[in-house]
Amino acid sequence: MESLHIVKPVMENGRFLLPKKVRELLQVECNDTVECSAGPDGIYIRKHMEHCLFCGGTENVIAFKDKKICCHCLQALRSLDI
Ligand SMILES: [Zn+2]
Repeated sequence: MESLHIVKPVMENGRFLLPKKVRELLQVECNDTVECSAGPDGIYIRKHMEHCLFCGGTENVIAFKDKKICCHCLQALRSLDI
C-alpha cells in the first residue's frame, strides 16, 4: 500500500481534517466511520469495518441481534449438531 506523510494543524476545538489523499487511499467516503486509537507511538486511524464476533473477519458480515457474524461462521454454527 502507498505510504503518505502529511502535516495538518489541529483546530481549536480539537477537530482534525482527514486529508483528501488519505481518504482516497483508505477509500473513506462521506458518512463512513473511522476508528481512532492512540498509543505510545502516536495516533492510528483506519476505516471502520464491521467485524465478525467469532473470527474477526470483515467479509460478508451480517448483523444478528445487534451482533456481527460472517457467513462462514454462520454456516459453521448451522452445522453444529445441537
Ligand atoms: Zn466469522
